[in-house]
Amino acid sequence: MIDLRSDTVTKPTDVMRKASMEAEVGDDVYGEDPTIKKLEEKATELTGKEAALFVTSGTQGNQLAVLTHTNPGEEIILEENAHIYLYEGASISAFAGVQPRPIKGNKGSMNPIDVEGAIRSEDIHFPETGLICLENTHNQSGGSILPLDNMKGIYELAKLHQVPVHLDGARIFNASVASGISVQTYARFTDSVQFCLSKGLGAPIGSIIAGSTAFIEQARKWRKRLGGGLRQAGIIAAPGLIAITKMIDRLAKDHEHAQALSEGLASIKELSIENDVETNMVVLNVETTGFTAQEFVEQLKDYGILAGAIGPYSIRLVTHLGISNDDIHRVLHSVREMIE
Ligand SMILES: *Cc1c(COP(=O)(O)O)cnc(C)c1O
Repeated sequence: MIDLRSDTVTKPTDVMRKASMEAEVGDDVYGEDPTIKKLEEKATELTGKEAALFVTSGTQGNQLAVLTHTNPGEEIILEENAHIYLYEGASISAFAGVQPRPIKGNKGSMNPIDVEGAIRSEDIHFPETGLICLENTHNQSGGSILPLDNMKGIYELAKLHQVPVHLDGARIFNASVASGISVQTYARFTDSVQFCLSKGLGAPIGSIIAGSTAFIEQARKWRKRLGGGLRQAGIIAAPGLIAITKMIDRLAKDHEHAQALSEGLASIKELSIENDVETNMVVLNVETTGFTAQEFVEQLKDYGILAGAIGPYSIRLVTHLGISNDDIHRVLHSVREMIE
């Protein structure tokens, strides 16, 4: 099977498995796991923040950030298709007790003027604005990159209003490799950042959140409260350390593959591409074929290809560590055959 559903399907490399096996471990709740410490130090360095924390998933990382930055009864501003808003089971209200204030974006970027307009003034009727969340790359708009200027614009006005900014950077390394802007530079315009080790970077488990020392101390406490305190976690941190030391540059390959896939599919007259392919995602429109996205995806399975329907006629294809040049050729060949 050629699995293009998501970059979450990547399997750990042999080097990662070996690293797990040989990892030095200790009790991380006591702060005694050397491999976890190494991973958090490296993440601190890459993000340019004061401290970092290993967490079990991107969702847990984002939610720890929301819990740490906000108080119940506040409001958080985010783009209307943000992962935190659409795909985290309403945890912002279930756990943090805050309400969302979604804003219409353009390829995931919110206009700073709209953000400023949504920041609450002091009024007995109003919730206070507790947090602004950004997402880079933006998943729902097909892996588009938030321009650095946009992040800077929002961050500067957030500072003016004393509202913290969190970056859901699940795929910030994809943004960085594609744009040539360092993760540290992106992170300069946020108070906290979450990134996933377990997507294109290939680790089996985990995410990182980074921020100030005080922020991470509080987030660590929230993680413990929610049952996320870890013991001999070096076993799962070792592949994560390889992910952020050895696997970043190769993301460029995934982006090349997405480009090739998108160009090949666009050359088939019944198909069109909905997104500007900036990183590792292609959003395919199949409306002219006469099939729904769901029907199209079902037929792809017969050709050994897995993809995800994300709208009535939209299909998302994600390239990653497990997809080779040959796979891209095979997919293009199969789709042509299928359409004929
Ligand atoms: C995958 C993803 C997450 C959540 O990560 P999990 O590890 O699946 O919980 C958060 N934000 C974005 C943008 C994502 O793509």
